[in-house]
Amino acid sequence: MANAPVLGACLCGEVRFEIDVPTLFCAHCHCSMCRRSHGAGYVTWIGVPFERFRMLAGEERLVRYRSSEHGTRSFCGRCGSSLFCESTLHPDYVDVVLANLDGAVEALPQAHFYFDDRAPWVAIADDLPRFGGKTGTEPL
Ligand SMILES: [Zn+2]
Ligand SMILES: [Zn+2]
Repeated sequence: MANAPVLGACLCGEVRFEIDVPTLFCAHCHCSMCRRSHGAGYVTWIGVPFERFRMLAGEERLVRYRSSEHGTRSFCGRCGSSLFCESTLHPDYVDVVLANLDGAVEALPQAHFYFDDRAPWVAIADDLPRFGGKTGTEPL
C-alpha cells in the first residue's frame, strides 16, 4: 500500500504543497546562504523528485530568488517562510525545507553538508558524517 502524501505549508498557510515518500535524502546544510535566508544556524533539507512534489495552493505567493549561478530559492511573499531550493546541478529534484512539513518523513537526517562553513556558535553533538569543501559534500 502506498504511503499517504506528507503535507507542508509556509508560516501563514497560503503556500501549501504535498510530497510523496520516500525522499532522496535528508541532510543539514551549514552553508552561509542557507543560514542567511533562513535566519538560522543551519537548515535541514530533504530531496524530493519533482514527480513526487505537488503544489496545492499559493503558487502565486511564491517569490523566487536566484541565490547563485545554479540555485533558485523560493519563499512565501506574505510571511517570508523559506520553502524550496532548485538547482540546475540537480534538475530532477527539489530541495524542500523539512521544518515546513506537517508530518514526518521516513528518513532522519543523514549528514552535515558545508560543515566547514558552519557558524562558530553552532554546537553539533551527533555522530552524523560531516562533509564540506567547495561542493559542501566532500569528505572532511
Ligand atoms: Zn506564507
Ligand atoms: Zn545550504
